Amino acid sequence: MQYLSVDEAFNLILAGLRPLTAEPVALEAAPGRVLAEDVRSPLNIPPFANSAMDGYAVRAVDTTGAAHDQPARLRVVGEVAAGQVCPMVLEPGQAIRIMTGAMLPRGADAVVRFEDTSEGLYGRGPTFSGSTTTFTTTITAAADSGTGTGPTASTRPEEVRVYVPAKPGLNVRAEGEDITADRLVLEAGTRLTPGHLGLLAAMGFTTVKCARRPRVAILATGSELIEPGLPLSPGKIYNSNNPMLAALVNSCGAEAVILGAAGDDWETIQGKLAEGLAQGVDLFLTSGGVSVGDYDLVKQVLQAEGRLEMWQVRMRPGKPLAFGHLGEVPLLGLPGNPLAALVSFELFGCPALLKIQGLSLPQVREPVEAVLAEPVSNHSGRRNFLRGKVGLQGPTLYVWPSVSQKAGQLASLIESNCLIVAHEERSYYAPGERIEIIPLYGLETDLSNFGKINKGDDHHHSPASELSLRAV
Ligand code: AMP
Ligand code: MG
Repeated sequence: MQYLSVDEAFNLILAGLRPLTAEPVALEAAPGRVLAEDVRSPLNIPPFANSAMDGYAVRAVDTTGAAHDQPARLRVVGEVAAGQVCPMVLEPGQAIRIMTGAMLPRGADAVVRFEDTSEGLYGRGPTFSGSTTTFTTTITAAADSGTGTGPTASTRPEEVRVYVPAKPGLNVRAEGEDITADRLVLEAGTRLTPGHLGLLAAMGFTTVKCARRPRVAILATGSELIEPGLPLSPGKIYNSNNPMLAALVNSCGAEAVILGAAGDDWETIQGKLAEGLAQGVDLFLTSGGVSVGDYDLVKQVLQAEGRLEMWQVRMRPGKPLAFGHLGEVPLLGLPGNPLAALVSFELFGCPALLKIQGLSLPQVREPVEAVLAEPVSNHSGRRNFLRGKVGLQGPTLYVWPSVSQKAGQLASLIESNCLIVAHEERSYYAPGERIEIIPLYGLETDLSNFGKINKGDDHHHSPASELSLRAV
């Protein structure tokens, strides 16, 4: 069996994966899911021109030259609230009271906010000279009937003084200004965010077609393992990998199927794997038992019961790593060492899960760079994944290597939020150098999006473009 580089292992694992089928998913259940189809907008958003302010719908031309000492005087002929349709057409010299979100009456082409009229900051108040009671009654009736209205016979026409000149389009949200009908809004392979769900709902969708959620069987192996909650006995340690791996699996949009722990004996391991197969899982994630010890049986079981396609990778931590298939189901055999299991999962497991959900190759692992705050050396001859903390200092994204870098030590995760990638062919990185990082726990998506701002628009001069972080 070959001793592969990290990149070779990555390619081998991802090449052997098939995409999952798609299913309709209710929007409420869709955050984090991956779209399986392109989504075009069936309508304009907003679907009609409407007011962006509470104020008066006017003909802009009627307010030309208006100023505080020289207000435009307009006759108030009706009002329209959000959800209503104003039945009248605005004539020269007229204004219609309008609320935010209400459809712009025909004839009107601008809205002057209350603050810029004699109505002042607080809506209709002492400055308004009309018959307030009658007017309010009119509003209520209008709201009930679902249409806007002009003054009834009993309502005296009102006048409003407009203190500013309005240009056409002022405070008006044009039809389709946000999204035009038929625009390609979201592409297949997009991982849905809460914002995307709002957008889908605004287009009237209740469900979207997404990749099926992968089901991942999680099996810890080791005769020394005791489940948390039970008393420890001499020689035993708690099984800490299962909750960690289940959470990691969730962070990649997949569902964990916990198979528990097996001791280092052939029959139990085989039995647990058979249980997973019977449950129809999409991927096996085992931990432990893939090294060179006398009782490392996972890779032997895989070899005997299925196909072992890869074993051992030139990396640190996490050299013992097995990959293969049990029947049609891929199996990623992570090392037992909890830190090595985490690093190997982030490197290979998460990209694998994203890929079978339909994310494209660059999306499953967007390289991110940060500026090293302290030196890093690597004399291992393997690719070294150090734990670090990444964060902005001013406009620059810096990364600090964590104090403890001992391969086995979970404590280095207390303050870490990323892995620092020290390549095998480099023994030293100086402070101030850019270095590749792998943000942990899905933070990656956020950071690589920053990278895209910089990459996608060279002429962008906002502070975001000054970030040192970039996709490479
Ligand atoms: P192995 O890969 O089986 O040789 O295990 C490597 C190290 O990781 C050993 O010290 C194991 O005791 C430890 N280990 C293996 N599995 C787990 C687990 N599920 N939780 C915590 N530690 C583990
Ligand atoms: Mg073991």
